[in-house]
Amino acid sequence: MKVAVFSTKNYDRHFLSEANGEHAHELIFFEPRLSSETTALAAGFPAICPFINDQLNAENLKAIANGGTKLIALRSAGFNNVDIKAATDLGITLVRVPAYSPYAVAEHAAGLILTLNRKYHRAYNRVRESNFSLNGLLGFDLHGSTVGIVGTGKIGMCFAQIMKGFGCNLLAYDIYKNPECLEMGVKYVELSELFATSDIVSLHCPLTPESYRIINPTTLEQFKPGAMLINTSRGGLVDTKAVIDALKSQKLGYLGLDVYELEGDLFFEDLSDEVIQDDVFERLLTFPNVVITAHQAFFTRNALQNIAQTTLSNITDFEKGRECKNIVNS
Ligand code: NAD
Repeated sequence: MKVAVFSTKNYDRHFLSEANGEHAHELIFFEPRLSSETTALAAGFPAICPFINDQLNAENLKAIANGGTKLIALRSAGFNNVDIKAATDLGITLVRVPAYSPYAVAEHAAGLILTLNRKYHRAYNRVRESNFSLNGLLGFDLHGSTVGIVGTGKIGMCFAQIMKGFGCNLLAYDIYKNPECLEMGVKYVELSELFATSDIVSLHCPLTPESYRIINPTTLEQFKPGAMLINTSRGGLVDTKAVIDALKSQKLGYLGLDVYELEGDLFFEDLSDEVIQDDVFERLLTFPNVVITAHQAFFTRNALQNIAQTTLSNITDFEKGRECKNIVNS
């Protein structure tokens, strides 16, 4: 099938081309993001392959449908950037990669926790400058601390396993109780109890209308003073201005982010020679107790191989008219 790959980076090209041997799709790689300015690039392609910050709103979907696109093969798990109703109404099939490496994201969340707690980022720079002082590097034992997990699906469960290994007490909130988490000793509680009793809160639920800004002034008020918040899920789960206020008042003791609500204007690009216009993001960077990574939690070799394989299999299933278990809008 002829596939337009949007938001291409060198690693996308490498892993998709490598996995394409057995599928033999005609992959055309475009570096720009799919937006109202670039929908014309999709003309004549029955399939497109976008990533998380491509803009698949009703207007852009209509434009690509007019150009002949019938399949959107997302190379991501999350699909909050797609107007699903509009895609369905236009007869466009949407497929995704529901699981590619929950370990990658869960391990990154654990890495953010360790970095914030033991301040590796500061220690690394200090030692390189021959400053061997320990002042300001004091951490706490993860063993015995309470970790609250919001969303115990594939990633949340892996994260629970990791934190159990550290000897943490595990609390969780989810609409569904994961039997494997229950077996592991995870205690499901109401969200307000989770916020009030957790030393660390880690978000692993999708971004939906219900979970939008689940972290806001009201819920932050419920947090244990000095708690740590980790978000490796989606930026829209967090009201960033509210979090800045909570950091300033020291209600929030630590913040680790791999995602940011307005990351579409920043992440995945080298902007080191530019003046960043997002003052809210820049304020976040001024806190010593904030660590931000640019949506890299998924970024392991294993995950990229799995993403490429599943994406191309999804396209092959569609092309051959086979049932595809990864359809979002069946
Ligand atoms: P999953 O579908 O396996 O699990 C999500 C869980 O969240 C489910 O158990 C679901 O019941 C629960 N949930 C849904 N709405 C909720 C709510 N309002 N409150 C609490 N729980 C709720 O998904 P997953 O594979 O574990 O991925 C979780 C999220 O991680 C994805 O939606 C995506 O946004 C994010 N993600 C981020 C990266 C990254 O690189 N940073 C990579 C992959 C996925």
